Amino acid sequence: MAEFVQVIDPGHGGHDPGAVANGLREKDLTLKIALYTRDYIHELYEGVKVYLTREKDVFVSLNERAAFANRLNADHFCSIHINAGGGKGFESYIYNGSYSSKTKTQALRNVLHDTIVAETKLMNRGKKEANLAVLRETKMPAVLTENGFIDNKDDADFLKSDANLRKIALAHAHGLAKAHGWKPKAKPTSAAKPVPKASAGEKVFYRVVAGSFADRENAEKRVRELEAKGVESFIDVHKS
Ligand SMILES: [Zn+2]
Repeated sequence: MAEFVQVIDPGHGGHDPGAVANGLREKDLTLKIALYTRDYIHELYEGVKVYLTREKDVFVSLNERAAFANRLNADHFCSIHINAGGGKGFESYIYNGSYSSKTKTQALRNVLHDTIVAETKLMNRGKKEANLAVLRETKMPAVLTENGFIDNKDDADFLKSDANLRKIALAHAHGLAKAHGWKPKAKPTSAAKPVPKASAGEKVFYRVVAGSFADRENAEKRVRELEAKGVESFIDVHKS
């Protein structure tokens, strides 16, 4: 089966901060949520490739965001925004025109919307339609999520927590997976701990441990065995 192509679109960026209030900027929140969503999807599901319309704080026009998804021939487009203007809670949008894929677009949105409301516990403002450029100009089913109000004290407090941004992202990943029927990846075996990933600008070294010994002699024996196999190793002393 061909890979599912999911485009995630972090709203605003660069000279366009989006909504700004309570010490928060929409463009920063949408980028974090989008990056987390991409990582969750790649970590949890098989056969899905996520592309972001921007991966850093740069300006991308609305036309270019839609054109990017169209060039990729993406299967689905999900734009992530934060609301403003004196409300509270979560709402989602699909294009309000009449188009052949509207029933499908609506069904996908409903699953995503309900999952996000259930998992984030943001107040449910309802499923809406509007004539928005990224929804109108994308050729595939498209949805836009408005994840709380930056100018509402309660929502802003919620959005100030990185754990909550991850919660919103995970809810997007779960909701999209449910909507599209993505297959979960096989769980790692109990012995295999997840290997931490390096975040931007951070260098990580992975150390392979080939044994732990109470006895220096046994440790040296293991080093000689490894050396015999052509593996360079050394003894690192830990005091308990
Ligand atoms: Zn926005």
